[in-house]
Amino acid sequence: MSSPQPSESKTPRKYQLFIDGKWVDAESGKTFETPNPATGETLAEVAEADKADVDKAVVAARKAYEGKWGKMSARDRGRLLYKLSQLIEEHSQELAELETADNGKPIRESQYVDLPQVVENFEYFAGWATKIEGETIPVPGQMFNYTLREPLGVCGQIIPWNFPLLMAAWKLAPALAAGNTVVLKPAEQTPVGIMELGKLFQEAGFPDGVVNFLPGYGETAGAALAAHPGIDKIAFTGSTEVGKLIARAASDNLTKVSLELGGKAPNIIFADADIEQAVNGAMMGIYFNQGQVCCAGSRLFVAAEIKDQFLERLTEKSKNVKVGNPMDSGTHMGPQVSAEQLDRIKGYVDIARGEGATVLTGGEPPQLDEEFQKGYFFQPTIFGEVKNQMRVAQEEIFGPVVSAITFENEDDLLKQANETIYGLSAGIWTKDITRAHRFAKAIHAGTVWINTYNMFNAASPFGGFKQSGYGREMGRHALAMYTEVKSVWIDLSGKPIGWFGK
Ligand code: NAP
Ligand code: MG
Repeated sequence: MSSPQPSESKTPRKYQLFIDGKWVDAESGKTFETPNPATGETLAEVAEADKADVDKAVVAARKAYEGKWGKMSARDRGRLLYKLSQLIEEHSQELAELETADNGKPIRESQYVDLPQVVENFEYFAGWATKIEGETIPVPGQMFNYTLREPLGVCGQIIPWNFPLLMAAWKLAPALAAGNTVVLKPAEQTPVGIMELGKLFQEAGFPDGVVNFLPGYGETAGAALAAHPGIDKIAFTGSTEVGKLIARAASDNLTKVSLELGGKAPNIIFADADIEQAVNGAMMGIYFNQGQVCCAGSRLFVAAEIKDQFLERLTEKSKNVKVGNPMDSGTHMGPQVSAEQLDRIKGYVDIARGEGATVLTGGEPPQLDEEFQKGYFFQPTIFGEVKNQMRVAQEEIFGPVVSAITFENEDDLLKQANETIYGLSAGIWTKDITRAHRFAKAIHAGTVWINTYNMFNAASPFGGFKQSGYGREMGRHALAMYTEVKSVWIDLSGKPIGWFGK
């Protein structure tokens, strides 16, 4: 593995599919290009998987499940996962640079957030491999009842482009710890880090076919995976719209589904909040990863008493956010991931204006040096005078664009905060602990942050209420998504069953 060099921009990297422990071309021979979103230059040329490759990978994953991997002790599985976490840590600088080159996120985020959390997740679930246990149930009479917790088999995993390696880690680590095998499709925009991860799986010594990585398009490779009768589970992270397609595709085979989907999180600033802390929290909520975060605090509810003071300070600080070369350690925001995402954000600026909202700052791409003129950059943007029913307050924009909504009192606030199809996360900023806990309980969301935002740990569950999805990633809860429970009954009396006579 080697870091992307400036001179490399002219010679794209090349990646094949990773199936059954081997690097192979797509059956069709097709490839696609993935650009560096900061410059528009081609970063890599990648084999394009389709249905035939999915079929091959599912066969390989089944063979591994029924063969070496299925027979391996939990301890050995855990050791392999731990070895992988160490290899990722050793290569984390190169991987961070590649992640930034492929996705556009600032290098300080790849280095200090994404990669450390990738390592943490593999390490955490390595420990779980030997701790997945059944229970004994105190049933009445001369009976003994216990449960076994077994792996599901072959898992399909489809992941998005916003945290490519981290989303892969959230899904691979618990699936493998529980003893499953995996066929994973990265997002078409960001396959590079995941293909490099394939090399580390090989180096760690995982048996062939335990993981198979199939870069390709959603409508082809992704759809073939979700509808495949040979998989036992499909796990998806991405848009709610595609999540519904996945659930439909899986329904024909009743394949188990877990979905981590969109959000439109309320980030609530009460009048008694520490203003500076809350302003920084609002920025963390929306500008982190260029706003391309499913739990982004994109609906900013501000108490009427402090609205002017708060938005003034937020606007001032937003103007100082450094947007530019993501490889520069001083950069706060890099480009959006793609031209499509940039267009989508621009479209929402027009929609906001059309709906009567005001643009307090941003609303357009920044002026940057020649080298970055073809990049997909956008300025930190605040919409003022937003009403909760407006499209910019209801639809996931997935950019550094926040809608500020004023509230008068707690009842009015709670009603609006919960008035959304989503329920992934929420933020609360207040010094009043009873109010903080009251709201944490009343908000319909899978994660609530109090006087902080975007905190994650491999041990803490993450997932959505309502249309934000099914299931929980990370923590012990993730293991429930990758295991089946079997209940075993044993007669202790030694007597024949007399129910139908002697
Ligand atoms: P998306 O279409 O939901 O993509 C997520 C993953 O699903 C990608 O791997 C994608 O493959 C795949 N996919 C797409 N169509 C599929 C299908 N019919 N069957 C199976 N898999 C399929 O998201 P997007 O188009 O990249 O982004 C659109 C919007 O989704 C964003 O603006 C944002 O609102 C939301 N989003 C949310 C999250 C999140 O974490 N909740 C993440 C990303 C995007 P391809 O990449 O090859 O299309
Ligand atoms: Mg790319």
